[in-house]
Amino acid sequence: MPRPRTANRKPPPVRYRWPDGKRSAAVLSFDFDAESGFLFREPEKAKRSLADLEERRFGPRVGVDRILRLLDRLRLRASFFIPGWTAVNHLPQCKRIRDAGHEIGAHGNVHEAVGMLDAAQEKAVLEEQLAILRAELGVKPAGYRSPSWDVNVWTPALLKTHGFLYDSSLMGNDVPYDVQTPAGRLVEVPVQWLLDDAPLFRHVYGATNAIADPGRVLQMWSKEFAAMHGENGCFVLTCHPFISGRASRVVLLGDLVAFMRRARGVWFTTCEDVARWHAKQARG
Ligand SMILES: [Zn+2]
Repeated sequence: MPRPRTANRKPPPVRYRWPDGKRSAAVLSFDFDAESGFLFREPEKAKRSLADLEERRFGPRVGVDRILRLLDRLRLRASFFIPGWTAVNHLPQCKRIRDAGHEIGAHGNVHEAVGMLDAAQEKAVLEEQLAILRAELGVKPAGYRSPSWDVNVWTPALLKTHGFLYDSSLMGNDVPYDVQTPAGRLVEVPVQWLLDDAPLFRHVYGATNAIADPGRVLQMWSKEFAAMHGENGCFVLTCHPFISGRASRVVLLGDLVAFMRRARGVWFTTCEDVARWHAKQARG
């Protein structure tokens, strides 16, 4: 009896090896900026524009808890990157994130775009945010996500010398990789614009981007996930509570997870656990 033709087909080569024979990894991450980015970029306007402040306060006031309820319902752990300013000014929400068992990573102090800082200023900002996360939350973060994904050539070494295991701000691959620094290798858990809620949903006057239909975004993110799953990729979604905490977008996140759970062999995890897995592989 002839063998079915599919039996001759070789399985695709494994591009990246995940634990327990999983085919890909998926991380939901949330950058809990609150008002911080606005305060850094437009300090004068921030003194008078209640409208801009309130748009961002939707995150701590409503969005974060809506997202925490979703994650609880889905039984998922996520990674939250929190600026020092947010930890000081929205401490109860940050404690709820921590106490629900989610990962907390560093995300600047007042959401400083580090491209505007020299190395000495960036070091001071890094040390201040670490001190705040420790003092307010008792957290020593394994990971760092640069505000606005802005990274200087010296940033990885700075992170390494301050005890970080990984960064999650660069786009040089879609599986974890190493960034070489004079202080040793830093793990990178890469991001990408396609998987960021801000360019799709954030209304900016004068910009060409419109507010996207959640159905279209679900389709786009689902397609990216399915393709990355076939490539043994690391799907890292980046959302902001003041943007994705809106009602229909929380529903979208639930629908996306339901879609991803229909695929076999997905490792739902955190950036930290991805980085730990990658570091363990590198050690052999
Ligand atoms: Zn941010």
